[in-house]
Amino acid sequence: MPALALGIPSIRRDPAQMPSVTGRPEVPGLVDRFGRTARDLRVSITEKCSLRCTYCMPEQGLPAIARENLLTATEIARLVGIAVRDLGVRDIRFTGGEPLMRADLAEIIRRSAAVAAGASISMTTNGIGLDHRIHDLVDAGLTRINISLDTVDRDHFARLTRRDRLPAVFAGIEAAKAAGLTPLKINAVLMRDTLGGAADLLEWAVVNGVRLRFIEQMPLDADEAWARDRMVDAAELLGVLGARFSLTQPHREDPSAPAEEWLVDGGPATVGIIASVTRSFCAACDRTRLTAEGTVRSCLFGDDETDLRALLRGGADDYTIADWWRAAMWGKQAGHGMERADFVRPARSMGAIGG
Ligand code: SAM
Ligand code: SF4
Repeated sequence: MPALALGIPSIRRDPAQMPSVTGRPEVPGLVDRFGRTARDLRVSITEKCSLRCTYCMPEQGLPAIARENLLTATEIARLVGIAVRDLGVRDIRFTGGEPLMRADLAEIIRRSAAVAAGASISMTTNGIGLDHRIHDLVDAGLTRINISLDTVDRDHFARLTRRDRLPAVFAGIEAAKAAGLTPLKINAVLMRDTLGGAADLLEWAVVNGVRLRFIEQMPLDADEAWARDRMVDAAELLGVLGARFSLTQPHREDPSAPAEEWLVDGGPATVGIIASVTRSFCAACDRTRLTAEGTVRSCLFGDDETDLRALLRGGADDYTIADWWRAAMWGKQAGHGMERADFVRPARSMGAIGG
């Protein structure tokens, strides 16, 4: 396995070399050359995880980030504040790795919420341990949550994640519902191996009143096992679900939203499909990303990263950091490029970027 796939940053831009801003209009927001504006910030806060999902992490986990290289709660909140106040970001989502692996998660949320007036603060999690911490997190300012779950079969879950922790995920889901974080969204990665259980998962979601969304698997697994000709696409999933449920497509309120929603048996339950590979939504992408080490990544599939941590720790003011962030986003690539024959996987895997 190439060392780079384990999550070692590839191109870390030297703070002495600001990315080119030639042609960039003088606007405060995170605009790019293709007419998009990023308003949705994904913040990865750790590379650690309680699971080892085969489509994401290597069996041994990602190499540990040295403690001094990880952004602190105060540094994360400072960047969140710049994003919201100076750059027009409206949604903040904490991710990883597994955000619950950070003991100071509530502090990160509390400090971020204090400087992010008007923005939503959410988290993507595998749910393990959530039941013990949900009240602290909500109290700190968490307003929404997505929980990842690919199968409701315990043996299958253990094989897929290399950990027998399905009951802990269910406990996390119940806790999130009880805390009022509803409607709760459940994300499931679509794999050949999980296709047979997809209808059972949807049935469970309907019975338990959660909103299930399937996501096409992307070539971001550290093990590099993904292959385009073996992946399950949205059309194949619809065929499988359609054998048990009647699926109809309601009017799409937001055509740029990545998930296509289907009514299940006439509603009100729905199922979403995010066809990130076969029906790319890159043209409407509004995301900007921060890695746990404090680099800006303009695209999941773009390895060119801009180091804000060095600026922060070098004493740069907010104005300068905002300018570097704008410059980083101006260079965002048009799309993931998976359809091209010369497509090259990014050096970081999903767990090292933050999904
Ligand atoms: N640990 C948390 C979790 O699993 O929800 C947050 C981090 S995880 C990287 C974020 C999301 O990325 C999860 O919903 C996960 O299922 C998804 N993901 C991971 N690898 C993926 C891949 N290769 N293709 C598509 N989605 C992936
Ligand atoms: Fe961990 Fe989330 Fe990756 Fe699974 S998808 S290994 S839970 S970071």
